[in-house]
Amino acid sequence: MNLLLPFIAVFLGAGTAWLIKTPHAGRIKLLLAFSGAFLLSSVAHEFLPEIFESGDHHVSMFLIGGVFIQIILEFFSKGAEHGHLHIHKEARNFPYLLFASLCLHSLLEGMPLQGDTGMVYGIAIHKIPIAFIFASFLINSKTAIWRAVLIILVFAVMSPLGSILAGELDFFSSYMTPIKAIVAGIVLHVSTTLILESSEAHKFNLAKIVVMILGAVLAFAI
Ligand SMILES: [Zn+2]
Ligand SMILES: [Zn+2]
Repeated sequence: MNLLLPFIAVFLGAGTAWLIKTPHAGRIKLLLAFSGAFLLSSVAHEFLPEIFESGDHHVSMFLIGGVFIQIILEFFSKGAEHGHLHIHKEARNFPYLLFASLCLHSLLEGMPLQGDTGMVYGIAIHKIPIAFIFASFLINSKTAIWRAVLIILVFAVMSPLGSILAGELDFFSSYMTPIKAIVAGIVLHVSTTLILESSEAHKFNLAKIVVMILGAVLAFAI
């Protein structure tokens, strides 16, 4: 059930986009800020202690490697993982490269999710605004409904697929600590960018601070 949470979250986000035809930009930013703080708190609470407790000296290298993997992925995804989606309306073609890197990001971050951990909630919550924004784009670009559902389904399946692959294949399970370190780097980069980009010109915003504190505290509580 827990490994299905990221899958359910994608449909929750996409379903909300279907219901709310004209999304409120301010509310989406609040949701992005909340998910960023939740995710950052989850990785600090769970993945970071776990990888450093392993005693493996190379984990720091893998952690920074993960940060750079995410930077490279964002050249192709244009930051869709943290809620950026600036695609020209006149661009009629589906952004395959963007979608592929978004899927690769999801597959990777699903890998270290094994069993009942707080990180599953962090990843799941982070999927809601992403799926919402991506589904809004599909709805606005007048993509046929069956095609939009198929695209969302592929995206939704990626994280649970990563969890299953990493759990079932000996190759992945024997490298779980480096994988966890890489994903920690990926998630650190995404979550800090989520927090950074949700604030405009560093202006004080009480609502944003409150949702971020709430997100951080909730992640520790779970
Ligand atoms: Zn961005
Ligand atoms: Zn992600």
